[in-house]
Amino acid sequence: MMLLISLFSVFETRASTTPLDCKKVTPAVEIQSGIFVRPSHNGILFKDENIANIGFIVGDKAIAVIDTGGSIDEGKRLICQIKQQSNLPIRYVINTHVHPDHTMGNSAFKAENTTFIGHKNLTHAVGILSKTYLRRYNEVTGKNVSDKTIITSYTSVINKLNIDLGNRTLTLTAVQKAHTNNDLLVFDNKTKTLWMSDLLFHKHIPVIGKSGSVNGWLELIKRLKKNKIIKNFIPGHGPLQINWDDASNNQTRYLTLLRDEIRKNISTESDLTHAMESIGLNEGSKWQMFSTFHKRNISYIFSELEWE
Ligand SMILES: [Zn+2]
Repeated sequence: MMLLISLFSVFETRASTTPLDCKKVTPAVEIQSGIFVRPSHNGILFKDENIANIGFIVGDKAIAVIDTGGSIDEGKRLICQIKQQSNLPIRYVINTHVHPDHTMGNSAFKAENTTFIGHKNLTHAVGILSKTYLRRYNEVTGKNVSDKTIITSYTSVINKLNIDLGNRTLTLTAVQKAHTNNDLLVFDNKTKTLWMSDLLFHKHIPVIGKSGSVNGWLELIKRLKKNKIIKNFIPGHGPLQINWDDASNNQTRYLTLLRDEIRKNISTESDLTHAMESIGLNEGSKWQMFSTFHKRNISYIFSELEWE
């Protein structure tokens, strides 16, 4: 058994030190001038890679990364994709929220001397969740990534923060509870593009985090729908070509249905199991990954609304 373990760790060490050939990495997609996205495909956390839309924005003097993916290898491939486009310094890594498919590539950027930026609640969320994420990642992949790779020090966004990339300012806004309690919106003032990350799901079923709020999320989308300045929207999961009205209406329909039906359920003193078996079944054909996330959404929203 010991021999097996040690052979395994030698293999792991070798595998993780195999140099990455950046020329073989598929380039990121430039969806607006200077805004590049490494598109996602549907998948399961820890088991599959590239399951969130992540990317970077290039100014005249510097680059900001928006989320780093679900593994250090994903982060390294993102660095390749950046170098394919520009040799400017990667000055900022912005984590839109704590979820592992957005943050576990962070340590690939340590050597780049970047400043990590997150919502004011992010440091706390990293403190309580990241070691569990890493343990599950190691269990699922059979790897042995050390918790020393976890980034714990962030520049906090309390309300709003502008960062200057050279002739290009990004405005970061800390959101009240929505998808989680540590969501950031990233707005590129140059192209009027709002990087929404997991505040917008497109075709992929919306997923609410345990610390999130269905009421807060619905309120945020309502406010954004009134905003006439924003021209382009980037979702955290699902295809990048979106019609904002359709995408936001679909998400609002799903979350409103869950909220209203769960409220009814709670008021008639039905239990959570009944809610999970009966609510929102007609939505099944409208979303990808429905069976993976729908019941969990009900369970989290149930705990939020139980205490209204
Ligand atoms: Zn998320």
